[in-house]
Amino acid sequence: MGTFDTKANFISQGTRMTNQITPLIAGNWKMNGDAASFLEVEIIKDRIVQSDLNVEVAICTPSTLLHRVSELLDDSGVETGAQNCHAEKSGAYTGDISVSMIEEAGGKYVIVGHSERRGAYSESNADVKAKAATALEGGIIPIVCCGESLEQRESGNAISVVVDQIIDSCPSFGPDQSIVVAYEPIWAIGTGKTASVDDVEEMHNALRAALADKFGGQGEKVQILYGGSVKPANAKELLGVENVNGALVGGASLKAEDFWGIISAA
Ligand code: PEP
Repeated sequence: MGTFDTKANFISQGTRMTNQITPLIAGNWKMNGDAASFLEVEIIKDRIVQSDLNVEVAICTPSTLLHRVSELLDDSGVETGAQNCHAEKSGAYTGDISVSMIEEAGGKYVIVGHSERRGAYSESNADVKAKAATALEGGIIPIVCCGESLEQRESGNAISVVVDQIIDSCPSFGPDQSIVVAYEPIWAIGTGKTASVDDVEEMHNALRAALADKFGGQGEKVQILYGGSVKPANAKELLGVENVNGALVGGASLKAEDFWGIISAA
């Protein structure tokens, strides 16, 4: 890990880690899925139960489906998660869900700071950090998202923007807790475009260095997922990149065959 004087100076100073961290493939159903989707969940469950892959798998469903999908996947090794939580533990927050509700519904993870929420609901890094801290306190692992816009990429600021975002969005965590980080270039989400392998490697190495600097040894073990139009056809290449420890998968997580194609590439 390199030394630095500003957060932006993590640019190209990334720690070169071998991919020894168990990969996590997490599906993000967004506002999709219904009872018919349980068939897809059953297929993934059967494949995982029969496989000996060294991979962690999770499905982050809409809140209304979380309990039922968690029950379906009970003891299968496939985990579930939510897509958002409130930073407060309970209270007068109409329409929101709390960390303890996620926990009671069987969730292990919660996605926080997805660019769709940062954009549509103006969630700041401070908001995301508060949600992630509450998740950790409640025994839920936050998947903290970050990513640059196309303008930021094209103006050459992608790495400093994303490193700043993740440093400001991740709370401290104890030795028996963990966080997951997901790098998702906004322009690659749901567009069919993916970042080049070189750009992904440069970003993930910078994120690794930043996490190691902020969290020491624990930061070196954080799973850093890539997200943005991951599909079976590009999964092997992306998952083989240094410091890519899994994927956050939107559209391709809705169909078992596609999701399995990504899981089996890990
Ligand atoms: C996402 O929304 O987290 C995502 C990566 O979506 P997609 O895979 O559809 O680009």
